[in-house]
Amino acid sequence: MQKDIYERARRTMVETQIIARGVRQKEVIDAMLEVPRHLFVDDGLWGQAYSDYPLPIGEGQTISQPFMVAFMTEALKLTGTEKVLEIGTGSGYQAAVLSLVAARVFSVERIPSIATRTRKLLDKLNYSKVIIKIDDGTSGWAEESPFDAIVVTAASPEIPPTYLEQLAEGGRLVIPVGGEFVQDLLRVTKKRGKITRESLGGCRFVKLIGRYGWQQEKSG
Ligand code: SAH
Repeated sequence: MQKDIYERARRTMVETQIIARGVRQKEVIDAMLEVPRHLFVDDGLWGQAYSDYPLPIGEGQTISQPFMVAFMTEALKLTGTEKVLEIGTGSGYQAAVLSLVAARVFSVERIPSIATRTRKLLDKLNYSKVIIKIDDGTSGWAEESPFDAIVVTAASPEIPPTYLEQLAEGGRLVIPVGGEFVQDLLRVTKKRGKITRESLGGCRFVKLIGRYGWQQEKSG
């Protein structure tokens, strides 16, 4: 593929936002250098695509900040062989990054228009290891479970029990849990049936809306 004019911006992003803040895993760094983040936002936002903040993707949703994508991916401790579940496909950027670091990515998005647009983009860019389903992702993806890793890119008031059930032995779940405006990023590990939780720090995500997340806001 022809080198894109954003390559320099992407390298600067990786050096100043990702490596400088402590992300070390080579595969994650390489994926962040490779995925053309600008193509995952509206062309009017291309100039900001490599900046240190989230950007709007329509329907009140956002593409996560680059650092958060790298940090969450590293937190999953992927080696390349894993089956990963992502909740909240959104722009597809996190899914594209995950697909370069894991074997297969199953991603669930609740807003059909976003899911359809993202499917087309991922096809065009050849991210064929990502499978998208339109559904309430708080129920996980039972038919494809268990998953070696689960990453939730929207914030939940509590950990949906479904994710613990669908996590494989030794599996890792990374999920923002907390209130509407600020959450704690948790890594939950399942070992010999036992669940352990670690806090990875504060964060801010859009709401996970569904049966085991936040309830849908009333319109009007
Ligand atoms: N990973 C995305 C981040 C998107 S923002 C990216 O890289 O761009 C979070 C997404 O989660 C939004 O698109 C939102 O519609 C979706 N979402 C919220 N609740 C959901 C649910 N219950 N199931 C699936 N997707 C959900």
